[in-house]
Amino acid sequence: MSITLAKTAGFCFGVDRGVTLVYRLLSEGKRVCTLGPIIHNPQVVEDFKKRGVRIVSAPEEVMPDEVMVIRSHGVAADVYKKADALGVKYEDATCPFVAKIHRIVAGCKSDELVFLAGDPDHPEVKGICGHAVCPTIVFRTPEELIQIDKAHPEYRKKPVTFAAQTTFQADLWQECARTAKKVYTNPKIFDTICNATDERQSEAKEIASRSDFMIVIGGRHSSNTKKLSEVCSAHCPTLLIETAKELPESMLLASSHIGVTAGASTPAYIIKEVFKTMSEMLENQGVVNEEAGKEDFAELLEQSLNEKLYTGKRVKGVVTSIQPNEVLVDVGAKQAGFVALSELTDDPSLKAEDVVKVGDEINLAVIKVNDQEGTVMLSKKRCDAEEGFEEIVKAHEEGTVLTGTVVDVVRGGVLVLTNNVRVFVPASQASGSRVEDLSTLLKKEVRYKIIEVNENRRRAVGSVRAVIREERAAKQAAFWESVEVGQVFHGEVKSLTSYGAFVDLGAVDGMIHITELSWKRIKHPSEVVKVGDMVEVYVKDIDKEAKKISLGYKKSEDNPWNIFLSKCHIGDVITAKIASLTPFGAFAEIIPGVDGLIHISQISTERVEKAGDVLSVGQEVNVKITDIDVERKRISLSIRALLEEAAAAKAEAAAAEPEDTVYYSTEDPKPEAEPEEPSAE
Ligand code: SF4
Repeated sequence: MSITLAKTAGFCFGVDRGVTLVYRLLSEGKRVCTLGPIIHNPQVVEDFKKRGVRIVSAPEEVMPDEVMVIRSHGVAADVYKKADALGVKYEDATCPFVAKIHRIVAGCKSDELVFLAGDPDHPEVKGICGHAVCPTIVFRTPEELIQIDKAHPEYRKKPVTFAAQTTFQADLWQECARTAKKVYTNPKIFDTICNATDERQSEAKEIASRSDFMIVIGGRHSSNTKKLSEVCSAHCPTLLIETAKELPESMLLASSHIGVTAGASTPAYIIKEVFKTMSEMLENQGVVNEEAGKEDFAELLEQSLNEKLYTGKRVKGVVTSIQPNEVLVDVGAKQAGFVALSELTDDPSLKAEDVVKVGDEINLAVIKVNDQEGTVMLSKKRCDAEEGFEEIVKAHEEGTVLTGTVVDVVRGGVLVLTNNVRVFVPASQASGSRVEDLSTLLKKEVRYKIIEVNENRRRAVGSVRAVIREERAAKQAAFWESVEVGQVFHGEVKSLTSYGAFVDLGAVDGMIHITELSWKRIKHPSEVVKVGDMVEVYVKDIDKEAKKISLGYKKSEDNPWNIFLSKCHIGDVITAKIASLTPFGAFAEIIPGVDGLIHISQISTERVEKAGDVLSVGQEVNVKITDIDVERKRISLSIRALLEEAAAAKAEAAAAEPEDTVYYSTEDPKPEAEPEEPSAE
C-alpha cells in the first residue's frame, strides 16, 4: 500500500502568524484575549485557554490589562473604531491577503455594488462587508448569482465589483467569475482566493484523484478544511477528522492508496499524531508502505514535515507584509516567515519598503526554525551573500572580471563589496600604480579579478591591478597591430626629459624628440609643453621590435623655412636682427626660426677684421638677400651689397651732371664803382 501526505498540509501563513503572535505575547508575560477563536481548531484553542487566553466577542469585553488579538480573518472597520474609542490595546493579526480584500471593497464608491463569493456567516466575510461603504451582496454559487440578477435587474445598471472569500473553492470561483461576466457589463473582478488555499485545494484534488481513501485533518468548523474535504470527496471516499482518535482502522486496512491532507488551521503536532497512529495501526497489521519503502510512517511524516525547512536552507519567499522592523514572507511552509530589517539590508539608511515590496519574490536563507512557535527566521542578506560567494567562486574558476565598490580600508588593503560579499584587495593590487592613501579609493567602483578563494573560510582575494594589466596588454597588442606612420593621436604628456617629451597614446607611450617639438631651437621641452598637457601628435617612426614610437609634434604649415620661401626672394632688401657673431661673419634672424649669414666680407665695403667690430647681437640691419640655397637651407645676406649700390648710385648721379653747367649765385654781384662825376660847385 502507499500513503501520500500533502506537502501543503497544515498551518498556512496567515494562521501561523496569528498563532505565533499569541504565543509571543504570552511569552512576553502579557494577558491576552482573542476576538473570537484565534483559529478554527478546537485543540489549539483549548491549548490557549489553558494558558489563560480568553475569547471575547467585542472590544467592550476586553479587560484593561489585556491585549486583544484580532485574528487572521480580520474584522469590520467599526471594530477598530470601537477599540480605539475605548482605548483597548490590540494587536492586528489580520492576514495580509484578507486585508487586501478590505482595501478593495473600501475603495468602491457608495453608488457601486460589491459581490462577494463566500459564506455570509463566515467571520472573514462579515469583516470584509464591514469595510464597504456600498451595498455588499454575498453569494455562494453561480446559480445564486443568476437568481440575484433575476430578482434585482436594476443591479445591472450599477458599477459592480466581484471578489471572493480567501478560502473559497477555486473551481467554483472560476464559474462564478464567468457568470458575472455574462450578466454584468464590465464587472471588476478581483481574484482574491489565497494562493495557499488554491495550492492546498489543487494538491488535495490531485492526491485524491489517485487515492482510494482520503483523510482530511482539521477543525469541523474550519471553512477551508470543509472545502478541502468537499474537493477530495469529489474524487474518492473522504473522511474529515479532528484528531487521531477518529481514524477508522478498517477503512485504512481496506485501502491500497491513502491520501492525507490537513486544513490551514491544523497544527503540525496534530498531523504528526494522526500519522503516528496510522503508522502503528498499519504496522500492527504488517502492512508496508510501498511508496516510502519503509514501515515507519511517522518517520515518513517527520521527513516530509522537516525536509522543507532547516537552518541554512535557501528558500524562495513572497513578501506578504512590511512592518517597520521586519518583513513577513510566505515561504510555502507551515511556519510563518520573518525577515528582520537587520537581515534584509546592511544599509542603515534604508527602510524595509526601500528594499522590498509586498508581492516580491525574494531568495532567503533559513537562520532559525522554531517549530513550537511555528515560525522561521530568515535572512535575505545571508542568502544574498551565499549566492554572491558562489558567483565569486565561479568568477575565480572562469577568470571573470567583477565590479564592486570599495567599502572599507583595512590593514594591508581595502574591502570591495560585490554581490554582498566583501572581497579583500591587498594594497599592492588595489590599483594600476602605487596608491599612497588607500582612503582615496573609498566609494569608488573598481573592476577586479579573484586571485584566491578559500571556500571553507568563505574568503576571497581580488586584484584590480591584474585587470588593469591585462586590459593594457590587450590594448597594446591591438595598438601594435594597427599603428601606422602618419597616424594622428591625442595624448597626455606624461613626462619630460632633456631630450624630449613622452606622451601616453592610450595603450603605449611615444616620444617627441626635442627637435620635433618646435621649429625654433629650444633648450628644453618644457619651453613648449608641460606634464599633463593634451597634445595632438602624429607617428613619425615605429620600431615594433623595440616597441618604440617616435612622434612628431610641430606642423609643416608652421615651418618657418616655408614661410620664408613664400615671402622672400633673392634680391629682396629686408631688415634682419643680428643673432650671433662668428669669426666668419654674423648670423641675422630674418623671421623667427630662419637665419641668414652675413659673411665677414659682406659686412662692409671696407676690410673688417671681426664682425663684432662693426655689428652687435640684437642690432637691426638692412641686408640684401644675395643667395638662397634651397637644398641646403642656406641664405646669404649682404650689407656690403647695399653700401656698394648706394655708392654706385651716388657716383652715377654725379656722372650724369652736364659739363657747361652754369652756377648762379643767389647774391647780387657787387656793382662796379661808377667813376665819380665832377662836382658842380
Ligand atoms: S488561508 Fe490564506 S488568507 Fe486565509 S489566513 Fe491563511 S494565508 Fe491568510
